[in-house]
Amino acid sequence: MTEQAKPTDPTRIDGKKNSRRLLKQVKSRVAACVDKGVTPCLAVVLIGDNPASQVYVRSKERRAKKAGIATRDHRAPGATTEELLAVIKQLNEDPEVDGILVQLPLPSNIDSDAILLAIHPDKDVDGFHPYNLGRLMIGKHRFVACTPQGCMHLLEEQGQELSGKRALVVGRSTIVGKPVAHLLLQANTTVTIAHSRTKNLAEEVARADILVAAVGRPNFIKGEWIRPGALVIDVGINRLEDGTLTGDVEYEAARERAAAITPVPGGVGPMTIACLLNNVVIAAERRAGLRDD
Ligand code: NAP
Repeated sequence: MTEQAKPTDPTRIDGKKNSRRLLKQVKSRVAACVDKGVTPCLAVVLIGDNPASQVYVRSKERRAKKAGIATRDHRAPGATTEELLAVIKQLNEDPEVDGILVQLPLPSNIDSDAILLAIHPDKDVDGFHPYNLGRLMIGKHRFVACTPQGCMHLLEEQGQELSGKRALVVGRSTIVGKPVAHLLLQANTTVTIAHSRTKNLAEEVARADILVAAVGRPNFIKGEWIRPGALVIDVGINRLEDGTLTGDVEYEAARERAAAITPVPGGVGPMTIACLLNNVVIAAERRAGLRDD
C-alpha cells in the first residue's frame, strides 16, 4: 500500500469513496426513473482509434451499466464531420436517449466545435455546449461539466464553510478551470484565476484558502507555497517516465500544510465518471417528470 493510499490519513480527500457514495445515489435515482417507465440511457460516440479514449469509453460504459443506465455504443473509426453530425442528429431525435457523450479528443479531420455545438443542450451530459456554459455563467446551470462538478462535491464533503473564502484556480480551460471558477463564485468564495501569464504564482497560492490546480504539469505547485490549512484539489493527471501518475501539486510536501488534499490517482479522477452518470440521471429525471428544472 502506498503512502497516498493510507485510509487513516485525515488530510487525504478520498475520491474513490466519494464517487462510490454518489454512484449509490445515482443508482437509487435510476430505479425511481425505471419505476416511471424511463430507463436512463447514455449514448457514447467514439471516433478514431485513440487507445486512451477506448479505455475511458469502456470504463464509462461499465460504470453506467453497474448503475442501471443503458448505453448505446456508436463507433465509427474513419467517420467524417458530416457523418458524425448525422449520428448526433439521430441521437438528438431519439426520445429514449437521455445523454450524448462524444469522447474527446476527436481526430484532427473532425471539426470538434461543430460536433459539440450539434449536441442538443438537453442531452449535453458533458456540459460542454456553449448554452450550458452560459447557463453556468449566469448561475442557472442545467448541466455542469463533470470534472468541475466533481471538484465541488469533494470540497463540499469537507464540511467547511466555503462562503467568504479565497479560492485560487490555476488553469483557465473551458472544460476545467473556467467552469470550476464559476462554481466557486456561486459558492460565494472570492475567486482568482491564474494562468500561464500570471506573475508571482507562489504568492497567489500562498493567499488561497482553497486551491484548485488544473494545469497539466507534474508537481508544478510546490508544497511550500500552500497556505497552512488550505483545501487543495489537484485535477492534474500527469504520466511520468516510469509510467506512474502524479498531479500538479507536490503531494507529500503540500499535505504537511494543507487541511486536506486530493491524491492523484484516486482524487478527482473517480469523481468525473460519477458526475457524468449523475448528469445522465438528471436528464432522465426530466424525461420522467421527476424534476422540472
Ligand atoms: P489545458 O486545456 O491544457 O489547460 C491548462 C491550463 O494551465 C491553461 O489555462 C494554461 O494557461 C495553464 N498553465 C499552463 N502553464 C502554466 C503556468 N506556468 N502557470 C500557470 N498556469 C499555467 O488543460 P485542462 O484540460 O484544463 O487539464 C488540466 C489538467 O487536468 C491535465 O493534467 C488534465 O489531464 C487534467 N484533467 C483531469 C481530469 C479528471 O478527470 N481528473 C479531467 C480533465 C482534465 P494558458 O491558458 O495561459 O495557456
